[in-house]
Amino acid sequence: MARPQIALAPRRPTRQVMVGSVPVGGGAPISVQSMTTTQTADVEGTLTQIYALAAAGADIVRVTCNTRDAADGLARIVPRSPVPIVADIHFHVEMALAALDAGVAALRLNPGNLRKREEIQLVAREAKDRAIPIRIGVNAGSLHPEFAERFGGATPEALVESALYELALFEEVGFDDVAFSVKASNVPLMIAAYRLLAERTDHPLHLGVTEAGPPPAGLVKATAGIATLLAEGIGDTIRYSLTADPVEEARAGRQLLEALGLRERKNLDLIACPSCGRAQVDVIGIAKDAQARLEELGLPIQVAVMGCVVNGPGEAREADLGIAGGRHKGHLFIRGQIVRVVPEQEMVDALVEEAKRLVAEGVEA
Ligand code: SF4
Repeated sequence: MARPQIALAPRRPTRQVMVGSVPVGGGAPISVQSMTTTQTADVEGTLTQIYALAAAGADIVRVTCNTRDAADGLARIVPRSPVPIVADIHFHVEMALAALDAGVAALRLNPGNLRKREEIQLVAREAKDRAIPIRIGVNAGSLHPEFAERFGGATPEALVESALYELALFEEVGFDDVAFSVKASNVPLMIAAYRLLAERTDHPLHLGVTEAGPPPAGLVKATAGIATLLAEGIGDTIRYSLTADPVEEARAGRQLLEALGLRERKNLDLIACPSCGRAQVDVIGIAKDAQARLEELGLPIQVAVMGCVVNGPGEAREADLGIAGGRHKGHLFIRGQIVRVVPEQEMVDALVEEAKRLVAEGVEA
């Protein structure tokens, strides 16, 4: 029998923004975002990556719109994309307008990189006419110099004030269909900025630790920031910014939400002990092999691989499927019941076979 889910802090109430068909905030499931790394003008290459991101768990994909060719590419990508497309805009107002013409589901504007009031308000008016939301995406690395000067650098207050100032400019032209982000590569700064912003606004928040770097350190940094806030009920959509194939970002985002019980499980949840001197089977080898084979099958199931009797029977009993190791053999548990004893060399095959059977019977985790 699977363990009951313990709820985290209640989600912060927000208004809702629709990114195409995906609701963000207002009690909607927390969505996963990622961003393509291809040239947007390469329509087929970008679409291939968008499909891979969607398959890995991305609900929304952001694509840069930095040139005329990129905007032309976007117009061909949007109608063929399996998920809503957000255009990432820096510096050039014409690119924001071209992205809107291309039919994107949302824009991301960086207040540090598009600074002229009349240009910002022109984009807001055009977005309003089309009912397209905008993410005001403040980034500590490209903070508007006025706010950096006023607050003595990229402080949480500076990031938040820059975001709210941009919203005030939008509101002057009657537009407030807005989500916010206040990202920083420094985790404590990012956490403090989002906490402050959450107190100051009821708009949905897009969480991220920007420029987190390559995995595994990048995964740890991004998780430290994003998970801390999610556990406090803050955050409506998330993005891991990894120096890696963006499929890893989408996968990590989805896995984090599943681990926190914030999205229904679509992936394998492998529980395995770290092994120690008491282990009587090769826990690391069995767990790695089981993970590779079960992930390949894409089965949404909870599986435990445990080395000995200390915690083995308890964990194995709680999972959908479990192995509790003994001397070169182990008890195989299915839904809390011991069904047989399996020799060590047959453990992975037995787990895969039983996982397939459980999922085929509709006994989902
Ligand atoms: Fe060690 Fe047993 Fe705990 Fe695994 S379950 S870490 S082998 S004591």
